[in-house]
Amino acid sequence: MNCLLKVSNLKAIYLVREGTIKATDDVSFEIFENTAAAIVGESASGKSTIIEAMTRTLPPNGRILSGTVEYKGKDLLKITEEELRTIRWKEIALVPQAAQQSLNPTMKIIDHFKDTVQAHGINWSKDELINRASEKIKMVRLNPETVLNAYPMQLSGGMKQRVLIALALLLEPKILILDEPTSALDVLTQAHIIQLLKDLKKKLNITLIFVTHDIAVAAELADNIFVIYGGCLVECSPTFEIFKNPKHPYTEGLINSIMGINADMSKIKAIPGDPPSLLNPPSGCRFHPRCEHVMDICKKVRPPLVQLSSGTKVACHLYEEGGYRE
Ligand code: ATP
Ligand code: SF4
Ligand code: MG
Repeated sequence: MNCLLKVSNLKAIYLVREGTIKATDDVSFEIFENTAAAIVGESASGKSTIIEAMTRTLPPNGRILSGTVEYKGKDLLKITEEELRTIRWKEIALVPQAAQQSLNPTMKIIDHFKDTVQAHGINWSKDELINRASEKIKMVRLNPETVLNAYPMQLSGGMKQRVLIALALLLEPKILILDEPTSALDVLTQAHIIQLLKDLKKKLNITLIFVTHDIAVAAELADNIFVIYGGCLVECSPTFEIFKNPKHPYTEGLINSIMGINADMSKIKAIPGDPPSLLNPPSGCRFHPRCEHVMDICKKVRPPLVQLSSGTKVACHLYEEGGYRE
């Protein structure tokens, strides 16, 4: 499989009055062409920071301390703003978290398409813009005649999310990144968005990277899952493998905490303890205060990400050479 995007040793922080929030700490992963990858973790674990650092869209108090993001032989973190502008939307498009709120309530949907085109210096005639916008709106299974002339407030949450996906597809990117595309939607609308993304991936041969706090959503849509805990990547695995045989104690906890319709209630258990503070994260393995397998070394040494024979990569001392598990 062709590696399309390679993130290596990415570190990002936020500067705050009290110090620095270590939100992305040495995260590395690869994205393969025509696959869907899910970045999964609980709230405030650093999922959005990874996406924002990769796409250089961090807020003003965010800083990238180190790392590379390789795409077509270039490091996206090093290229000029001008070069980045040619890649954004045309090659890599992003639908940020809560992007629905960024739709301008005073502008019709067609004008959002117009703005996007203008922002990228593209000179389409009015007819061409309408044709292309209509094509993308149809792709997300909405009616262009009504939707393009509507104001955002006239659309439901699910429709707005579809419009944002259509906007992101306007310049036909190779990679579509979506931060929490299904949160804040009802269960049925969530299912429709997941099905839509599945269909688009197949039809357009597009590569998807999406963020979700819901591992059940990841199970539906992703080929590969990256589990984030406290700003660190703790497990990286094909989806079927992670559900069949989760390796990291936190991943085990996440999977045990989801409730299937036929689940045995006695087997469902929440992960004890609270997520770590990223202002003063725990030493060594950031999961150690909550881990039932904690050893002395876990409190002192950060476990490296190691590859197991199953193909899973895991950052846990239990799996190091001579460790207790494989
Ligand atoms: P959620 O599921 O709630 O969207 P997340 O996993 O996307 O969470 P991030 O938004 O990446 O998490 O946040 C990671 C950490 O960085 C959190 O502790 C958060 O409070 C902090 N953080 C995020 N943005 C900022 C900011 N602009 N300034 C300071 N701290 C921030
Ligand atoms: Fe638990 Fe130690 Fe593994 Fe961390 S490194 S998950 S504390 S066993
Ligand atoms: Mg987020």
